Parts: sequence; structure tokens; C-alpha cells
Amino acid sequence: MKFSYSERSVKRGYSWENSTPVSATPEKTFEADVAVIGAGIAGLAAAVRCAQLGLSVIVADKGTGSIPCGRLIGVVPEGTDKKIFAKRWLRACGSRVNEELLWKYMDKSADALSWLVSLSAGEAEAVPYTNIYQNPDIGAFPGDYFFRPTGERYSSEGGQLVEDILGDALTDMGGTIFRQMTAQELEKDENGRVVSFLASDADGKYVRFAGKKAVILAAGDCGADEEMLAALSPLSLRAGTLFSNGTGDGQKMAYKAGAELEGLYWAPHFACTAYGPYTFFFTAVNRDGRRFSNEDTSDPAKARHCMNQRAGEWAFTICDDKWYEELQKARGIAGGLRMMPEEGLTREDIEAEFQENLYRADTLEELAEKMEVPVEALKKTVERVNSLAAQGEDPDYGKRPELLTTIEKAPFYAFKWGPALVATFGGAAVDTEMHVLDPDDWPIPGLYAVGYCAGGLYAIGYPSVLEGSDIGSAITFALCAAESIASDH
Ligand SMILES: Cc1cc2nc3c(=O)[nH]c(=O)nc-3n(C[C@H](O)[C@H](O)[C@H](O)COP(=O)(O)OP(=O)(O)OC[C@H]3O[C@@H](n4cnc5c(N)ncnc54)[C@H](O)[C@@H]3O)c2cc1C
Repeated sequence: MKFSYSERSVKRGYSWENSTPVSATPEKTFEADVAVIGAGIAGLAAAVRCAQLGLSVIVADKGTGSIPCGRLIGVVPEGTDKKIFAKRWLRACGSRVNEELLWKYMDKSADALSWLVSLSAGEAEAVPYTNIYQNPDIGAFPGDYFFRPTGERYSSEGGQLVEDILGDALTDMGGTIFRQMTAQELEKDENGRVVSFLASDADGKYVRFAGKKAVILAAGDCGADEEMLAALSPLSLRAGTLFSNGTGDGQKMAYKAGAELEGLYWAPHFACTAYGPYTFFFTAVNRDGRRFSNEDTSDPAKARHCMNQRAGEWAFTICDDKWYEELQKARGIAGGLRMMPEEGLTREDIEAEFQENLYRADTLEELAEKMEVPVEALKKTVERVNSLAAQGEDPDYGKRPELLTTIEKAPFYAFKWGPALVATFGGAAVDTEMHVLDPDDWPIPGLYAVGYCAGGLYAIGYPSVLEGSDIGSAITFALCAAESIASDH
């Protein structure tokens, strides 16, 4: 039996399993070759590529404007050892990944980045992001890029700039984005082909969006839908802070249309940014004042270790007066997004980024009080950490000797951080052309899924092999979907 979730699975009483059909007569119909649900990066990239390939496109989005999106775009550059990349990715994802999708991502993502750069017509550039993990055990690959404006047209940067470029390109090519249109249900013709969807507008009136050649699901993740998280990604519920606003509409519509959803359990994308921007490599302690993990590990791993602690909504990184100098010395040894601030930031810049989530004290007793952790436990932890630094070895958690350091010189610092759920990976089962599949692995005619709505690339894990793979893969597969639709497979 396949490790998946579909209409054929035993029903468990979830609301989407028995949702009643929408019985409404649409007040009007908009028609194009391709109708897209969702104007995030994935939906817009698919729409733009369709338009470039000569297809007319309409996009419906339930929001009033663009939503917060990421910073880095992760692609697999030419020259990457793909066999090793694939091996590490598979290991991080419990070997449950669709390997064909993974290889397509590895083979096509660099072209997707070039496509995006060319789309910006000289108004933006993709700058390599170098602050990646330098922990040999984690083995992150280079391939992250940061978009920044080069001309007058844009003032945004990162993922927002990407979204702006895509949105402008679409409208320049005659595509239309309809805002405040919430897709409710996919519609099929008498042959079982998905031909349209019904959406409700801000006044609750229904509109039909017809896609003569295809309907593309690009409605994002399900990280803000507690019922879906409990069913499909329960680990996600353990993050005290939610950044995601995805309600899983695309996954629910796919399920209702007979799609197979990805196998349980869906991978959470955690980031340790609930309270402060960085976790650093210094000593991390839990709310009992005890050390609990190797601080020299990836951001998602730190999030999971933190959540496994009693009251694990947050933890602290403690250090002493020399922390800023130690940070500079560790450049080239330590690294990693959210572990190390980018080069060029002053001590004051970094402290300001933490705002009220930074505690400073002249004694450890006072620090413990401010942190609300047991004084004796914290002092014992510091004593132990100092002895490990002196002996140059960490038999407790195996931290690299070059990153061991003491906590001895006042003032003492505690930086608060905690896991937040950025998104969940998990969606409809798809093939490499992004056709949505039924439980027998046959494409549901006319239906495609991209971005978080499409499953298969992450399975149960979010690999630290490459940060920013969410946007990188979303764009890569959006292009694949558009090209497949244009060639009418
Ligand atoms: C805080 C944050 C930081 C991130 N950082 C990074 C990063 O650094 N690197 C990276 O690669 N990724 C990052 N991501 C993820 C990245 O933003 C997404 O991968 C990317 O935006 C593509 O997502 P998407 O288009 O699939 O979904 P989304 O961006 O969620 O877009 C989905 C769209 O569908 C719309 N929608 C939903 N339901 C309906 C409906 N029923 N009808 C109509 N429209 C609907 C929504 O309004 C939304 O506009 C981050 C995300 C967040 C939230």
C-alpha cells in the first residue's frame, strides 16, 4: 500500500473529506487558456511563462496584495556535484522524495534563475549569498541568491522583488490578476477534465474562472490551518509562533477533485526567528538553564531541538562581553543563515535587531533572573562550558573545538530565539510536468500544481543542503508546468 493520503484512504472525519459541493450560480465567467489559483511566486511564475509561450492567462488571488515572502532563492548551479547533492537531500528527507522531481530541480533550477534575471530587463540582479553553513557535517551547497534592484523601477528586494518583477511582467504581457477572489472548488467537464474553478469575491458573489487548456493550483501551504496541521503535519503545531498564512485551499480542492495528496507526515519549514534573528554558535540553554544540543547545527535542526525541550517555545544563546569579537573571528569557520549575522553589521546593529529580546547583566545571577531560568542551573552550565573550552573538546554534544568558547567576562548576554513555522511542504502528488495525479498515479486531465501546493520534493524533511530551495523549486516547477501546458501534453 502506498504511503499517501487520498479520497480512498480511510476517512477520519476531517472537514475537507466531506465538504459539500458549492451550489452557486456564477454571476460571470472569465475565460483564458490558463486559469491560475494564487498570485504568489509560484502562481505568477507559471502565469508569466504561459504568457511568454503565447497562452492567455488569468490569475485569481484571495488576498488584496502580495503576502510576505522569503529572501533567498536557492538553485543548483552548474558544476555542483549532483550525486552528492541528491544523496544529502534524500538523507535529510527520509528517502521519501520523488527522485525524478529532485533531479529535475537540480537540472533546471539554474536556468530558472537566469530566466528570472532576464525577465527583470536590467532592473534587478541576483547576487550570490555567501553566508552559508560552513559546518562540514551539514555540507550546505552554494546556490543561494538574493535579488536586489539595479535601476529606478523597483525599491523592494529579495522575494518581494521577485514577486514584483513577475507581477509587472504578467500585466505587461496582457495577463490579469483578479484580487479578492477566493477559489472554492474545481470544476470538471463530462470527461473528467478540470476546466474551471468557482471563486467568491469580496461580496460573496460567485465568479467562474475557466482555463481552456489548464487550471494551475498555486494557493500555497497549509501552515495556518490547525486541522490540516494536526492531520498532515503535527510536528508543525509544536512551533509556538506561526508565520505562515496558508490555509491549504489548494490541497483541499485537489483532494476534492480526486487527487492523491503526498504521504504523511508533511515537512515543516521551521526557522528560529520567533524572537530574534540569529541563534549564533555560542552556548544555547533551555528554560531550565541547561544546555541541550550542539549549537553548531542547522537552523531547522536547532528549531526541532528547542521544541523538544520543556516549554520549548524559546531558548537563549548566552555569551559574554567578547561575543562580537568572537563572532568576527569565527567567520570562515562558522556560518549559516540565522546562525551568523551577515558581514558588516556592527555590534549595535545586531543588538538592535533583537529589540527587547536581549538581556544584559553584570552577573550570572542577575542574567538568570532576567531570563527567568534557575540561577544555580545556569551557573552550572556556564561552569561546564568554560571547562569544555579549556579542554578543547565537547564530549557532551560534539561541538567543533574551534567553536568552543568561555563565558567569563561581564557583562553577560542572553539572546532569545525560538522556532517559528514558516510553511509546510506538502501538497498534491505530481509528476515532473506538474500534472496532479490521482491515487493510481494517472494525471487528472487539465489540472496542475506548483509551489507549496505540489508535493514530492521534500517529503518529511526540509534539507539544509540549500537554503531558499522553496522559491528556487517553486519557480523551476512553475516553468515546467507552463511548458508542459504549452506543448499540450
Ligand atoms: C516569512 C517567510 C520567509 C520565507 N523565506 C524564504 C526564503 O528565504 N527562501 C525561500 O526559498 N522561501 C522562503 N519562504 C517561502 C517562499 O515565500 C515561498 O516558497 C514562495 O513564496 C512560493 O510560495 P507559493 O507561491 O507556493 O505560495 P504563497 O507565496 O503562499 O502564495 C500563495 C498565494 O495563493 C493565494 N491563495 C491561497 N488560497 C487561495 C484561494 N482559495 N483562492 C485564491 N488565492 C488563494 C494566497 O493569497 C497567496 O497569494 C518564506 C516564506 C515566509 C512566509
